[in-house]
Amino acid sequence: MSGAVKKPCIKCLLSDLDESEILGQIKKLILLMPESEKCGETEYKRRLDICRECASLSFGTCEVCGCYAELRAIKRNNRCPHEKHFW
Ligand code: SF4
Repeated sequence: MSGAVKKPCIKCLLSDLDESEILGQIKKLILLMPESEKCGETEYKRRLDICRECASLSFGTCEVCGCYAELRAIKRNNRCPHEKHFW
């Protein structure tokens, strides 16, 4: 048995998941992401605070790019697609 971390299945339709499953999948993806690709806890919280106040945030999704806000915000090199908040 290898020590490899198994990636979570991301092929489910959203209609087949409940909200807690979606959040669980997002958290798993963030955990599996290499630390070198993440922006750091303080910056992550700052970004999420910006998203919380944004009119384009809807049900955890950025309506501009279609990404889950948490997944978009955690990546070091990602920027806000609105370009009103430069990351
Ligand atoms: S990524 Fe930018 S546009 Fe999208 S919800 Fe966050 S602040 Fe708003």
